[in-house]
Amino acid sequence: MAARPRLRFAPSPTGYLHVGGARTVLFNWLVARRTGGEMLLRIEDTDVERNRPELTDDILEQIQWLGLGWDGEPVHQSERLHLYAKAADQLLAAGRAYWCDCTPEQVQQRAAERGGPPGYDGHCRDRGLERGPGTALRFRVPDEGVTSFDDLVRGTVSFENAKLEDFVLLRSNGIPTFLLANVVDDADMGITHVVRGEEHVNGTPKYLLIADALGLDHRPVFAHLPVLVNEQRKKLSKRRDSVSVAEFRAAGYLPEAMVNYLALLGWGPPDGVEIRPLDEIVELFRLEDVNPSPAFFDTRKLQHFNAEYIRKLDADEFVARARPFFTHAETEAVVRPLAELVRDRVRLLSEVEPMVDFLLSDDITYDEASWRKHVAKHGERSAAMLDAAVQRLEACEWRADAIEAALLAAAEDAGFVNPEGRPQMSKAQGPVRVAVTGRGVGPPLYESLVVLGRGRTLDRLRAARAAL
Ligand code: GLU
Repeated sequence: MAARPRLRFAPSPTGYLHVGGARTVLFNWLVARRTGGEMLLRIEDTDVERNRPELTDDILEQIQWLGLGWDGEPVHQSERLHLYAKAADQLLAAGRAYWCDCTPEQVQQRAAERGGPPGYDGHCRDRGLERGPGTALRFRVPDEGVTSFDDLVRGTVSFENAKLEDFVLLRSNGIPTFLLANVVDDADMGITHVVRGEEHVNGTPKYLLIADALGLDHRPVFAHLPVLVNEQRKKLSKRRDSVSVAEFRAAGYLPEAMVNYLALLGWGPPDGVEIRPLDEIVELFRLEDVNPSPAFFDTRKLQHFNAEYIRKLDADEFVARARPFFTHAETEAVVRPLAELVRDRVRLLSEVEPMVDFLLSDDITYDEASWRKHVAKHGERSAAMLDAAVQRLEACEWRADAIEAALLAAAEDAGFVNPEGRPQMSKAQGPVRVAVTGRGVGPPLYESLVVLGRGRTLDRLRAARAAL
């Protein structure tokens, strides 16, 4: 019987989870779920500078927020240095590695003199140096031959050994590079599938050469996922683009919308239905169907997904999910009666409170463009509408349908009627809405006025009338 698949997400501690990293976690997780396998988490913190919990905390936190749990305890490479030291000794003893005391400047200078591609020239290969201060351990890459592997996403990928430099296994401070630690751990942890970003394709022949030299039988299946690019087709960059999952979370994205969207970065379901429950994606997902070409990280599309997911929440759930974004004590109370109406009009949870801010404070500033378009443009009719609205709303019952009837009558009073004499509410609402909310758009007017109350509504209508 075939062994249970074992996958791993192996982040380096960078301080934050990148959306590309989140996509990698998700693809690993999908395979593990579909095959009944496991997804382990390994923190690649051999670099002492990066071996600080705060550089890992956010990564773990955002994976959990996305709902993509891992199996077992996270493995920290910083606690396994003895394993890498042992592997390094073994390579040295077998003549597959050697000590080198060249400084980076010397390596660079010789490369410049020689012309052609930069990189290490094998200068210390046969110098028989001992370990000492400033020596790094390098892997002796075979001069000839080809190193190939089958990538589930890219097909067969081959590298000529002659084009690979003798790369570093242990730095001069004794710390192993991720190349060495990564191979040792994948074997030790019994990893069957290495699913990771495209930037690791070029490191894979080195991985295989090390595994071979260590005499490891272990050969995982590789799948290198396509790079994520922005609208200009440039690789996502922290400087230019929003890239951290935490930023999206803080902006009011739902984790389920994020996960659904991330699944489509390089993959698509055979039936083309993009917005769908995660368990269906688990069923349909195949690494073999991942496309190697760059995937466009389209924030607008993500926003659209998010709006769709928000609309699927019931009113209680919507309020609960939006609650962390409220900054005023009264926000929840004013949102509640309008929950479904607001829910259907926001794309982000962070938009909820701003949409109802006119219910929170009586300090209304009129948005200039809204004032021009919805109030000033109609001249006298706006003044008449505000007067008529005050009059009609003073007397009506304070329910949405009664308010609607009152404003319909006010529109007729003020002459907001079409040639057939029917009230034109789309225009007639304008002055009232701007007077009451400061803006030309917002949640449905009648329901909003119910929440606002008669007294505050009338005060605002009079204030706008006076401002005309
Ligand atoms: N630690 C590597 C990174 O964060 C991942 C290596 C791998 O997945 O094999 O890019």
